[in-house]
Amino acid sequence: MLEIKNLHVTIEETEILKGVDLSLPAGEVHAIMGPNGSGKSTLSYVLSGRDDYVVTEGEILFKGQNLLEMEPEDRAIAGIFLAFQYPVEIPGVPNSTFLKEALNSIRKARGEDELDAMQFLKQLRERIKDLGMSEEFMKRAVNAGFSGGEKKRNEVLQMAVLEPALAILDETDSGLDIDALKTVADGVNALRSPERSMLVITHYQRLLNYIVPDKVHVLANGRIAKSGDAELAKELEASGYSQFIETAA
Ligand code: ADP
Ligand code: MG
Ligand code: MG
Repeated sequence: MLEIKNLHVTIEETEILKGVDLSLPAGEVHAIMGPNGSGKSTLSYVLSGRDDYVVTEGEILFKGQNLLEMEPEDRAIAGIFLAFQYPVEIPGVPNSTFLKEALNSIRKARGEDELDAMQFLKQLRERIKDLGMSEEFMKRAVNAGFSGGEKKRNEVLQMAVLEPALAILDETDSGLDIDALKTVADGVNALRSPERSMLVITHYQRLLNYIVPDKVHVLANGRIAKSGDAELAKELEASGYSQFIETAA
């Protein structure tokens, strides 16, 4: 699904990623952990196609396609979903309208039929029910006045509606309470499928108590310093990241 090879990325002439290699097969959930400032968010921004991040070496393949040559919209059309650390607020636009437009623009670009209001509402209601959420979410303006936990829930709903092949979630290092962590985890677990891969970028070991990843990678010093199974997250909880940071010094 996703193949990252020898990825080097600079921001304002400072090299942040220094040769990242990562292979995420279809159907798997991988976690990327690592100390603050190690480049986790940089990696998610490069995957999303954000400006300012210069790839100086390496490649990223998504289903065999050169991701770095694709515009951000084309990445979404191809089935990549990125959940951001800081979701945008769109006052005045109801969630259901936003989700319908998002889904239909992707369907249209793929040459698929757009859903009419009735078809979309039916689908949205099913997703909301699957996720154990409240229908109140549909009427509220996108993220406006949402609590941190509600924004997370909304992000998970967006993901459920768009049904991506590859979902990338970058979890912020602060401000998520245990309920919000569980929301993210329940959403990710509900959306696990043999055709879908997920990359969960997190600072939190405890998130991985709820999402049991197939693999855990530690990003430190701009590279994947260690990979292992879900047990690695538990070891890190005990040992911390100092072993990786010392290597840098
Ligand atoms: P993480 O998500 O692992 O905490 P980031 O990817 O946010 O790490 O940051 C990696 C490094 O890149 C940090 O040293 C940070 O200060 C630096 N950095 C991030 N964004 C920018 C930017 N826009 N300009 C300059 N430096 C940046
Ligand atoms: Mg950070
Ligand atoms: Mg970050």
